[in-house]
Amino acid sequence: MLFNQQFLFTPGPTPIPDRVKLAMNEPMIAHRSKAFSHLLEDVSTRLQPIFGARNPVLLVAGTGTSTLETAACNVVEDGDHVVVVVTGAFGDRFANICQAFGANVHRLNIEWGKACEPGQLEEFLKSLDVRVKAIFATYCETSTGVLNPIKELGRITKQHTDALFIVDGVSCIGAVPVAMEEWKIDILVSGSQKALMLPPGLAFIALNENAREVINNCKTKRFYFDVNRYLTSYYEETSTPFTPAVSLIAGAREVCSLIEEEGWENVIARHQLLKEMLRRGLEEIEIPLFVEDDIASPTVTSIQPKEELIGTIKQGLQEKFGIIIAGGQKHLKGKILRIGHMGYCTPYDVLKVLTGIEMIQSNVLDRNIYGKAIAKAEEVWGKNV
Ligand SMILES: *Cc1c(COP(=O)(O)O)cnc(C)c1O
Repeated sequence: MLFNQQFLFTPGPTPIPDRVKLAMNEPMIAHRSKAFSHLLEDVSTRLQPIFGARNPVLLVAGTGTSTLETAACNVVEDGDHVVVVVTGAFGDRFANICQAFGANVHRLNIEWGKACEPGQLEEFLKSLDVRVKAIFATYCETSTGVLNPIKELGRITKQHTDALFIVDGVSCIGAVPVAMEEWKIDILVSGSQKALMLPPGLAFIALNENAREVINNCKTKRFYFDVNRYLTSYYEETSTPFTPAVSLIAGAREVCSLIEEEGWENVIARHQLLKEMLRRGLEEIEIPLFVEDDIASPTVTSIQPKEELIGTIKQGLQEKFGIIIAGGQKHLKGKILRIGHMGYCTPYDVLKVLTGIEMIQSNVLDRNIYGKAIAKAEEVWGKNV
C-alpha cells in the first residue's frame, strides 16, 4: 500500500478536485478591486441554481456553524418563540444556537435515524398557542444520514404560521434539488467543505425578501454576522463588508464551472447513483443500514454493524486500505459508522470503499464473500451507463 495515499470518505471535509486546488493557488488579488467585484458577482450568481435561489448567494468567511449562527442572530430576538426540528446532532445545534440568543425554543424531537414527517410538524404547530417567529430545520441531518422532506415541511410551515422557514443545507447543497421559492424556504445556509468540494472556511447564505424584512427589523446585537452589512456591501459595491476568503471564493468559481460542465441535473443523478450503489452493495454483504431507503441522504450513508465490529471496520479501513470514514455522534457514538459520498465522488470511489468493507467483512464472517458487494454495486452502476 502507498500509505501516503488516503481516501477521504468523511461527511465533511471532502476531497477537493485538482482544478479547484489550482484555482485557489492563483495570485492573490486586492479585495477592494474591480477584479474581486467581478469574481464575487460571478460566484454569487452562478451559485443561484445550486441553492435554488432567486437572489445572489451571500458569501461569508466562516464555517457551516457560522451560518447557523447568522440565521439565528439576524432573526431571533430575546423572548421570541421558535420551533426547531431536531432529527440529530445538527438540529440540536440549531436549537442550542437559538437558545443562546434568548429564544423560547420549542424542540420537535424526532427519533435519530428517522425523518420529520410533515404530519409530525403539523401536529406540533397545532399544539402551540404562541406566535412562532421562525421554524428551523436541517435538510440533510449529517449525524444520521437522513434527508428531511424540506419541501413538505415548508408547505406545512406556511399553512399554519407566518413564520420564516430557515433551512440548514450544509451537508447536501450542491448534491440535491432545492427550490427556495417553490419550497417556501426563506433562508437557506450552507458551508464549503461538504458537497461543494472546497476546503472548510467559506459560508453561504441565500435569502428572500421576507427574510430581508425580518432581518432588517431584528434588534438582536450582532456585528460580524449582521446580514444587513453583507447585503449593503453586495448591492451597493459588489463587495463584502470585511476581508473575504478570496482564495476560497476563487475555488468556488471553479466549483461552479465543474458543476455547469457536468450539468446540474447530472450532478444530482450522480449522487443518487452513489447512494444506490453503496446501499445495495452493503446489503449484499450483510452490513445493516441505519436509515430506511426512502429517507436516506444521497450524500452520507450510516451503517449499524454489531457494536463489537464498529472499531474493526473503522480502524481496518484506515490501517489496511487508507480509507477514512466517520463514527457516530453524541449517543450514536460507537453505535453507527458514517460514509460520506458527496461532491468530488465518483462510482469508482464507491467501489473502493465497498472493496475495503467486504474484505474486512470476509474476515469477520470467516466466509469468502470477496466481490459480492462490488458485483452488486456494478450492477446498479451498469443500469445507469
Ligand atoms: C457540517 C455541518 C454543520 C457545521 O459545519 P462546520 O463547518 O463544522 O461549522 C452544520 N450543519 C450540518 C448539517 C453539517 O453537516
